[in-house]
Amino acid sequence: MGVGLASRAASKHPPNEKILLLEAGPKKVLEKLSETYSNRVSSISPGSATLLSSFGAWDHICNMRYRAFRRMQVWDACSEALIMFDKDNLDDMGYIVENDVILHALTKQLEAVSDRVTVLYRSRAVGYTWPCPFPMTDSSPWVHITLGDGSTLQTKLLIGADGHNSGVRQAAGIQNVSWNYDQSAVVATLHLSEATENNVAWQRFLPSGPIALLPLSDTLSSLVWSTSHEHAAELVSMDEEKFVDAINSAFWNDANHTDFIDSAGTVLQHAIALLKPTKVSARQLPPSVARVDAKSRVLFPLGLGHAAEYVRPRVALIGDAAHRVHPLAGQGVNMGFGDISSLVHHLRTAAFNGRDLGSMSHLTGYETDRQRHNTALLAATDLLKRLYSTTATPLVLLRTWGLQATNAVSPLKVRGHSWLSKILAHGRMTLQTALNFFELIFLAMKLSIFPVLMSKKVLARLVGIKVHI
Ligand SMILES: Cc1cc2nc3c(=O)[nH]c(=O)nc-3n(C[C@H](O)[C@H](O)[C@H](O)COP(=O)(O)OP(=O)(O)OC[C@H]3O[C@@H](n4cnc5c(N)ncnc54)[C@H](O)[C@@H]3O)c2cc1C
Repeated sequence: MGVGLASRAASKHPPNEKILLLEAGPKKVLEKLSETYSNRVSSISPGSATLLSSFGAWDHICNMRYRAFRRMQVWDACSEALIMFDKDNLDDMGYIVENDVILHALTKQLEAVSDRVTVLYRSRAVGYTWPCPFPMTDSSPWVHITLGDGSTLQTKLLIGADGHNSGVRQAAGIQNVSWNYDQSAVVATLHLSEATENNVAWQRFLPSGPIALLPLSDTLSSLVWSTSHEHAAELVSMDEEKFVDAINSAFWNDANHTDFIDSAGTVLQHAIALLKPTKVSARQLPPSVARVDAKSRVLFPLGLGHAAEYVRPRVALIGDAAHRVHPLAGQGVNMGFGDISSLVHHLRTAAFNGRDLGSMSHLTGYETDRQRHNTALLAATDLLKRLYSTTATPLVLLRTWGLQATNAVSPLKVRGHSWLSKILAHGRMTLQTALNFFELIFLAMKLSIFPVLMSKKVLARLVGIKVHI
């Protein structure tokens, strides 16, 4: 359900199965691309672009518009610490694409498979009747779905792609671990003071939350500024000139620096220079912002969520229905794409072997694969949010030295990039790459957060322990 991720799942579904896609909203057709960019954009990883290419949707995106970025600078507002990944070592790091453009590409692609996929727009599912619980056999009854107009449908497999307030998840009684962050994200479309190559994604961690500038064109960038709810409300209502000043100051101002941290950072920098006399990347300043598109400012309250189980007999959850993540790593929709690749893989195998698509025997394979990925990413993102939300000197020092060391030492940086690429492409970390300073922290966090985020049954399966629960 839900035309976004669900349509991607539908286009990749095993052949010979009929698919019905329910979307509560209207069909959105982009007859002509507006000159004004949308304020809702997503950073699409190369892995997600490959998935979109595999069923023809990426071509539509390329024929409309997107912006590749080849460098990324992430830096701390409380010190000089930064990490820069540049294009000398890297291909495209990702693509900034308007959500409307992605939806349009998927809608077009769905039309191309209309013999197998039917889409019902303005059709809200309002009730579900589940088959009797275990043990399920191929002859078990199907899931019954009631729509808002009173009609009913039945299916072998219901895929819940209905967002972070998922009705499917709730009706299936799947436990969801969730908390609201003390932050909202303000998005807006910004005009730069002058045209630039604009192929860098910038993100600065302020104590109140990260601010990111994502390239859209030579003269335009998209803003995602996570900050306290009060500040976010102020930012969307203040006059345009003040808003632009606030952005420039958030990127340029060093008011959060302290002499102690700066000196400690300089000591490490000198030590690194002695040990490794090659030049390390210096901080660059992002382009300055001249104005904001009228009415492009909107805020979104942020939170974390994770379904303890992704599957039940005849049900699978994908996308935000299964996991909700802070946008600081730009990964929500990319994780959803990863879910789709995995689910399609397991469904194809089941179809090939003549198995019932709604049976747990292959759905658990999907759940195991994806929970391994997604919990690592959720934990890492949550930790980053917390680590950078503090101005406590020991933590600022720890993250400053960690980031400086990672940026200076090529193998670490390569590992950092490999970690980042993995996050960007798949969101997976392995023990092999855990040498990185941050990865060790993430690993600790991951181990401590695992039991919180998933059910004992799934946890046992993930770590390969046989337990009776
Ligand atoms: C400020 C911000 C910036 C972000 N930036 C990025 C980024 O750069 N990169 C990235 O990867 N992610 C990003 N994300 C996250 C990303 O937007 C989400 O992860 C993604 O939209 C989730 O998609 P989804 O299809 O799972 O859910 P949704 O987008 O919530 O879609 C759910 C769909 O289900 C439909 N639906 C709901 N209930 C029913 C029902 N009962 N019957 C029928 N249909 C129903 C809805 O109409 C809707 O179409 C960002 C998020 C925010 C808030």
